[in-house]
Amino acid sequence: MERRISGHTKLYGLIGSPVGHSGSPAMYNYSFEKLGIDAAYLAFDVPLEKTEDALNALRTLNAGGFNVTMPCKTAVAQLVDRLSPAAELVGACNTVVFEEDGTMTGHITDGTGFVRNLKEHGIDIAGKKIVLIGTGGAATAIAVQAALDGVSEIAIFNRKDEFYANGEKTVAKIEKAVPSIGKVYIDDLDDNAALKNAIAESDILINATRAGMSPLEDVLPVPAEFLHKDLVVADVVYNPKETLLLKKAKEAGCRAAVGGIGMLLWQGAAAFELFTGKEMPAQEVMEKFFA
Ligand code: NAD
Repeated sequence: MERRISGHTKLYGLIGSPVGHSGSPAMYNYSFEKLGIDAAYLAFDVPLEKTEDALNALRTLNAGGFNVTMPCKTAVAQLVDRLSPAAELVGACNTVVFEEDGTMTGHITDGTGFVRNLKEHGIDIAGKKIVLIGTGGAATAIAVQAALDGVSEIAIFNRKDEFYANGEKTVAKIEKAVPSIGKVYIDDLDDNAALKNAIAESDILINATRAGMSPLEDVLPVPAEFLHKDLVVADVVYNPKETLLLKKAKEAGCRAAVGGIGMLLWQGAAAFELFTGKEMPAQEVMEKFFA
């Protein structure tokens, strides 16, 4: 490392709290070194109330850009100078790039990471009917990106919990921003008849809830008997790598069962490209850090 850091080394980083567990510094620093880019990436523990201070500090230090994690994602979207169309619709950003004039552009790469991961598995979402379970942060980013990327229909299902109203807002935002979409609606995840019907008619089922993630690893987001052979099943959960939903999808002979680890990789790769204009060595990063 000491041989890599020079008087010109560009600073990149992650802000949010907690950040100590993050794999981002290892992933980005490895990629900088591999591509011979004179840059370094650090994680900064920043509580919500210090978000603006952190942005000002990074600007003062001429940082190249930074990633944002909870709890700062929404606050940052309100502080940057401009937002990408997806970040504007989601109302949050996970990647900020400093432009040459020092202004900040906010992006969200969770949705593009999800779509890219499907593409890497040979699945193109354009024109497809999707059922999306979840209305939290990951689900909102996926719903927005799927709409922007031309899916024909999005049926969102969620429990009637504190996240449900967010799903209603997402539906309204998509209807307004992407009027060309065939249909977008939200329904109660506990309405089994509606859920069964929607899954029967859809091409892709996406779990974007915490169901399946430790300590909910035994929780299935939808009944296994609703899965069918023509369905692609994708999970955002990456811990465990093979969730109970993916196991059931394989048992049901579904067209594909795609885990969340690739979304994690590709959302990072998309941010790397926004930072550097170069493609991250994704295959090597996957093998080294996510295998
Ligand atoms: P969030 O807290 O914003 O939203 C949680 C969602 O889970 C809500 O829709 C909520 O209603 C639902 N939920 C919670 N418990 C449930 C249960 N028992 N049954 C059904 N639904 C339940 O969370 P988030 O940030 O959107 O993260 C959701 C999942 O996505 C997490 O497992 C997270 O690790 C994963 N994630 C993965 C990536 C990736 O790159 N693969 C990126 C972001 C999030």
